[in-house]
This record gives sequence, C-alpha cells and structure tokens, in this order.
Amino acid sequence: MAIITAFITENGNALHRTFVEHIFKPTNTSLGFYRTDDNGSFTIDGGLANRVDIRIHARNSVVKMLDGENLNLPVAIERRVGNGDNINITTSGERESFFRLQNVIIDVYDRVWRQFLPYSRAHRSEYPAGKKNTHRETFASNQRIELSFPDRFNPQTISRSWVEPAGLLNASLPLMHIRNTPTEVFSTPEHAWSLLAHETGHAMHFTALSLQKRIEIEVDYAAYIANVGNTPHDFDVASTPFVAFIEAIGIFSERFFYFTVFVSPALRGRALQRAFTNDELNERNLRNQNMGSEYKPIGTGSGNTFAPTSGLRGSNMEGAVYAAIYVDFAQRVGLSTAINYIFNSQATTFDEYRSHIIGRNIAEHTTAINAVRRRWGM
Ligand SMILES: [Zn+2]
Repeated sequence: MAIITAFITENGNALHRTFVEHIFKPTNTSLGFYRTDDNGSFTIDGGLANRVDIRIHARNSVVKMLDGENLNLPVAIERRVGNGDNINITTSGERESFFRLQNVIIDVYDRVWRQFLPYSRAHRSEYPAGKKNTHRETFASNQRIELSFPDRFNPQTISRSWVEPAGLLNASLPLMHIRNTPTEVFSTPEHAWSLLAHETGHAMHFTALSLQKRIEIEVDYAAYIANVGNTPHDFDVASTPFVAFIEAIGIFSERFFYFTVFVSPALRGRALQRAFTNDELNERNLRNQNMGSEYKPIGTGSGNTFAPTSGLRGSNMEGAVYAAIYVDFAQRVGLSTAINYIFNSQATTFDEYRSHIIGRNIAEHTTAINAVRRRWGM
C-alpha cells in the first residue's frame, strides 16, 4: 500500500483546512474526501498506486468559493501527486485568486472569530457553520458560507462588496459578494486584508444569528446596499442606527485582525482581548500598522484623560457604535462578554443591544452599558 502525504500551498503559504478529493480520472469517480491540515498537509491511501489524481476544491472549513464570472459555479483544480510532493498554486490558470481569498478568510476567522462563542465550541471551532461526521458528508452539506468572486450581483461598477445575510442560493446562510473593483482586491496585501477582514466580520455575525433574524436583516440590508450607490457609509459619518450597528462589527473584525497580525502577534485569548481594548483607548499602536486611511482614532489621551474624538457620537454613527461596544464596554466587562451579547441579543441597533443587557439584570453590566451610552451620546 502506498501512503501518499503531500502539501498544498498558494504563493508559498500553506493552504489551510482545504478539501481534497481523491479521484479516478478515467471514469471521474470519487474515491474519497480528505482535508489539508493547518500546514497544508494531507495524506491519502493510494492503494497500489504511487501517484494519484486529486481534485483540490476551493473550499476550506470556513468558506466555499464560487466563480462569479461563471454562473457562480464552484471552483476546483486537478493534479497528480506522489508522496512528498508540494503543489504550489501561483497562476491564474490554477485559479490562484480563489485560493488566496479563502486562505485570508480562514486566517481572519482563526485570529478573530474562533475565540468567541458560539465559534469556540468544539463542534464549530474549525467549521463555523457546523460539520457532519465525515469530510464527504460535510462537503456535500449546505452548512457553509459562500463567496462569489468577482461578484456580478450588481452590474454597476460603483457598487461595493457586501455580505448577503441569508443567501437565497445558499440555504439562507451568508453569501459574501466580493467585487474586484474599483480597486483590485489584491492590489496590495493591506487592501485585501482590510476588505476581507471587514466582510468576514459580517459573515460571522450573520452566521451566528437565527435563520429568522438573518432573513429579517436580509431585506433591510439588501435595500440599504442597493441604495447606498455613490455615498458609501463611513466611520465618522451618520447613517442609521441599523446600518451603524451592522457596520460596527465589520470595523471590529478589521481592527482586531490588524492588531493580532501587527501589534501583538504573540498574544492569544483574554490577554489578546485585553491588550486590544487597552490599545484602542490608550496607546493607539494600530495607527502605525498599515491601515492607512482606514484607520481613524476613537479618541485622544489615556486613562482618566481619555476623550472621544470630537463628533464621534450617536447610535447612528458606525465608528461611535464600534467604540462604544467593542472598545469601551468591552474594556469594562471583557471583550468576549461584549461579543456574547451581540449574538445572544440578536440586536440590530445599539438600543436593542443595551435593552438586552439591562434585561439580564447583572448590575455591573447595566452600569457599564449606561456609562458607555452617555460617553458616546447614544
Ligand atoms: Zn460593511
């Protein structure tokens, strides 16, 4: 028996937790499903053969890629491998942009979202939308987030990337619409990280909500996205309490991702979470970390002299909602508690979020959310 262990990389980076199918090419028969580990390694029992044919699916344990230029069909490439081989995906013929995208998204998930409930539970940890007993069953199931690239949902070139909360074509789970315009996603690494970390935040928020809530948000959010046209929302621009609340989670995902990659790469768990809120309130090291114009400080000073940025206030301003919940409230009660409340409340505005917390009747949390509300003018 030939045991074949091989590695898959994209541009030299390990291709994380990606489905690999063993196929018998002459008849296109599927012989089994495997998955790379976090080092891009997988092992197949090749039977009598020293080399086998495989299909590498552009689908990892977090996201399934769809070809937006080809009717949103799934993406896969085929290769022949032997023991010890390294397949490095680098060219457009190998569909490398799909594998790069899914690799950034799984990195964002692992660094940002996987540490918080419900994703920190064992049965969801590697698979945020859930999994079945075998790789084949998980692959066949519709428990997954999908991503269309380059997205053609809205033909207007001005339209932007967004996440559909309850994808009509994705069993009512999120469908990420990732455009390749007006700036190419991979024009710079920073652009890709910032865009994908933001949109992955939306996907993880929606995935943790009930089906009913996703469908409810789908209508409002799609209407907003369709109308936003030439006037995109922004950190310090007033929109509506609903849009500000939804967008704040994208801002959090992006800033926390940058923080874990560039400011405190060695920290994990609660130490990382505490360092993050501390930095946003006191040190503001994020400003120097390649975020460019994406970065705006939430205030000045530190400790007792901290003062919110002038004008950054109101439950209809996404930067203010971000600062209030993911920094200020998080600093007082813990970031994981602040995020638990996001998911448990199923809130879509700051007011709903605050009402939920007050309803929990934990005096310390009530005091904290009320202090935050006053400081940020909610
Ligand atoms: Zn957004």
